[in-house]
This record gives sequence, C-alpha cells and structure tokens, in this order.
Amino acid sequence: MRSERLLVLVLTRRCDRNCGYCPQAFEDADMSEGTLDAALDGLLPRLAAPARVKLFGGEPLLRPDLVTRALDRLAAVAPGTAVELPTHGKGLPAVAALLARRPEVEVFVSRPHPWAARLRGVVHNFLIPPGEAPAMTARRLALARRLGYRRFNFLPAYFVPWSPAQLKGLAAAFAGLRLVLGRWSAAGRPVEVVNLARRGTTPLYNDGLVVDTDGEVYNSNLILADAVRPHRRRLHLGHVLNCGRLAARPAADAAQVLDDSFSPEVMASTRAVDAALTEFCLALTAEATA
Ligand code: SF4
Repeated sequence: MRSERLLVLVLTRRCDRNCGYCPQAFEDADMSEGTLDAALDGLLPRLAAPARVKLFGGEPLLRPDLVTRALDRLAAVAPGTAVELPTHGKGLPAVAALLARRPEVEVFVSRPHPWAARLRGVVHNFLIPPGEAPAMTARRLALARRLGYRRFNFLPAYFVPWSPAQLKGLAAAFAGLRLVLGRWSAAGRPVEVVNLARRGTTPLYNDGLVVDTDGEVYNSNLILADAVRPHRRRLHLGHVLNCGRLAARPAADAAQVLDDSFSPEVMASTRAVDAALTEFCLALTAEATA
C-alpha cells in the first residue's frame, strides 16, 4: 500500500484552447485504452484510502471515449470512487447523459458556461489574472453566481510575473471577494469555496500517482508544465506496466523541481499570489468560525 490517495490519468496532452497563463506543454499524444486499463487495475488498489481519480489533460473531453471507459471501469472495479473532471467545458454537453448517471464525478469548469452551471456539484475554476481591476473580479463572481454556480475554486494566475502594483490589486480583489461572499452568507445564500478543503506541496499542481499518456508514472502532474520538461525524470516513479515495481519516491521532491524549473522572478510572484490566496482562505475560515 502506498501513501498517495490521488491517481491522475493524463488522457490526452492535447487542448483546443490557448488560454493565456496556461503553463502546460501540449503534444499530439493520447493515452491508449490498454494504458488506461492498466493504470486503473494496477494502481488504484495500491492507493491509500479514500482514493480519488482525476481525469486530466490537456483537455480530457477531447477524448470522451476514454472518459467513458475510465468511468465504466471504475464502476466495475471500485464503485463509488470520487472522480474529478477538469475541463474548459465545451465538450460537456456531449457527455451530459453519462454525467447524469455518475454522481461521483465532480466537474471543474474553467469557463462559466450557463449550461455547465446546471451540472450537479459543478465547481467553477475562477482564474484571477494579473492586472484585473478588483471591481471586475467581483462582477465576474456575481455573474457566475447569477448563472447558477455555487462552488468556486479561486486561482490567481500562477507561474507568470506579477508586478508589485498587480499584487496590491490582487489583495484588493480578495478583500472585495470576501465582502461579497460574506454578504451572500449573511443573506442565507452562501457559496462554497473549494480551496478551503485542498492542500498540496506545489501551487496549482497535484501530488499523487500521475500516469502520462505513454504510461510513465510520476509523483506530481507538475511534469505537464512546459518549463518542467528538462526535469521530468527527477519526478519519475516507473511505468504502469510494472506497477509492482514503482519507486517509493522520486529522485527529487516536486517543490525542488519547481524551483529549478522557473525563474526566481516567476517563483517569487507565484509564492506571493499563493500566499495571498492562503490569506484569503484563512480569513474566510476565521469568519466562518467567528
Ligand atoms: S488552461 Fe486548460 S483549457 Fe486553457 S489551454 Fe490550458 S489546458 Fe487548455
């Protein structure tokens, strides 16, 4: 039995969007059905409980067949396992019937499509870019709520430089969001801030067993970041076809690889926005327990 609780399956390295601030490296590579089956059959039983599975990309819904296959196999071998599906949302209508039958799937949508707001338990990944006016950030939150979103994962843009003025603006934006969230809560219309329940050793990325499209297994999906390419082997654990012989831990920890991959300027900005997010979450927790 391993200590990891999360299995990340990189179903595809492709994405049909080109969002500013996306740190991912894209390739024309998809996971094979055999690799997907081997990952679920071989790695899931080795995870610590309670296990979670993340169907990841790229944009995972570019391969709805693999999403369906993964959910069908999970239902057979580990029914009830929590599943996360992050997506930009365009492909969601094509899997609406599938998701309606699978309450265990938590969809994280990065663009607040009105249609996606109707999905049970959907979370809006709410990106805050550098330089956005705090009033605009609050307006976007209010709009997402009007569309029907009730669960939010706040994400300041990571791995890009933020100027001191932009960091000041971010602090003001978080203060404004706290006011809005507090008003909604006082009016009996609270929303959930999903960040409050999540922790990791690196900003944005996840610790766990991460299976790339080619079946190689790593201990963080940090390996998907373009800047991390030269350091990927340091996070390598083995291959999905040899699940019994995975290394207990990689050659380096993810936080060290992060520092070695990005410039000091970008890392300083990343730490600063992550600290602002942590402060925001701590303040929300304190307000909730006051
Ligand atoms: S943020 Fe998501 S949707 Fe946008 S380019 Fe990156 S992977 Fe694609």
